Amino acid sequence: MFADYHMHTYLCKHATGVPEDYVDRARALGLDEIAFTDHVPIPGGYDPGNRMRFDQFTDYLKLIRTVAARAGLPVLLGLEADYHQNTLGFLREWLPAQPMDLILGSVHYIDDWEFDNPAAMARWKSADVAGAWRAYFQRIGELADTGLFDVVAHLDLPKKFGFRPRDSVIREIVAPSLDRIAAAGMVIELNTSGLRRPVKEIYPSQDILAMARKRGIPICLGSDAHAPDDVGHAFHAALAWARQAGYTEWVRFRNRTIHRSPLPDAPAQS
Ligand code: ZN
Ligand code: FE
Ligand code: FE
Ligand code: ZN
Repeated sequence: MFADYHMHTYLCKHATGVPEDYVDRARALGLDEIAFTDHVPIPGGYDPGNRMRFDQFTDYLKLIRTVAARAGLPVLLGLEADYHQNTLGFLREWLPAQPMDLILGSVHYIDDWEFDNPAAMARWKSADVAGAWRAYFQRIGELADTGLFDVVAHLDLPKKFGFRPRDSVIREIVAPSLDRIAAAGMVIELNTSGLRRPVKEIYPSQDILAMARKRGIPICLGSDAHAPDDVGHAFHAALAWARQAGYTEWVRFRNRTIHRSPLPDAPAQS
């Protein structure tokens, strides 16, 4: 019924446990499919502390394929890839040739500001909040235009620490990016990690999700697990979030192709 399409591994240097633990947790919760989507390696020094080295990429493939062979449920292979001026050249060359089931596209930086890092949070307090949101969603629109990614991860990530403009301003900022996501045929994820952050809300907001539904943008589900206990976190809440916005289906992936699937009737355990 439930597929967790956003899980990390220790190779990214800020996740704990081994992939087998994530699989065990998924099976204990009754998830029927999972995807590992670790942070993409980027040669050349982009945010090296938060990702595998480029020469570890074959280890990543081996790690996931080994665990998949013994998992007892489908384990998809994916990546979370950062859209940024310093990653785009590499991603354009390298990413399309990789044997992936799905590729999440993320924006974690506005230029040199890692706006979702608690260590860089001070800057929010003196920031032009609406201006930061505008800069972020401009980049999300560019991400969609590249055609390199399947899913927009944690779409309204700038809300993480609770800094957000008025709803009417957010709607005006987000609308053009959603148009570009729809035009690209992309999916957005319901990412439950927001519930574990100061904002205590699923990404994206109910407002944005309803705007996405009006544009026919499909959804998928992810916990953004960086520890085994995060797997499948609050998926019953995500299901309710999807229904509230008017969704009746979400999607599964194989080989970067979307398959539509109805929302389940029963709430998940967890
Ligand atoms: Zn991470
Ligand atoms: Fe991310
Ligand atoms: Fe992630
Ligand atoms: Zn993430």
